[in-house]
Amino acid sequence: MIKILHVNLDAHGDMADITDEVRKFVKESGKREGAVLVFAKGSTGAITTIEYEPGLKKDFPRIMDKIAPYGDHYEHHKTWGDDNGSSHVKAAIVGPSIVVPFKDGELLLGMWQQIVIVNFDTRPRRREVILQIL
Ligand code: ZN
Repeated sequence: MIKILHVNLDAHGDMADITDEVRKFVKESGKREGAVLVFAKGSTGAITTIEYEPGLKKDFPRIMDKIAPYGDHYEHHKTWGDDNGSSHVKAAIVGPSIVVPFKDGELLLGMWQQIVIVNFDTRPRRREVILQIL
């Protein structure tokens, strides 16, 4: 069973909480126990968990930009003439997917642990997130 979510995000590390959509998908599947794969399509998007609150929503992209600064030199820009070398590096570090276990139809997440899609690209994107019951 697969479902595709579409999420509109701003550039440079904007994120959205998709926990409710994932929870709903697990309920719809009718499965009681298993795991759900959450996968971001594209090489400048990423999936992780975080405490989704306004402070971390700003902290996370700010710290990621110290690891792979937007203004740094990227050979990638010579390959395609684009400006998103930092976006690809950030997305590769965070990773495109997570697997979340569920039991009795409920996601086994911490109380302050939300599932987020992050858009590291340098322009706003409509991101695709693929959900699959495993
Ligand atoms: Zn690129």
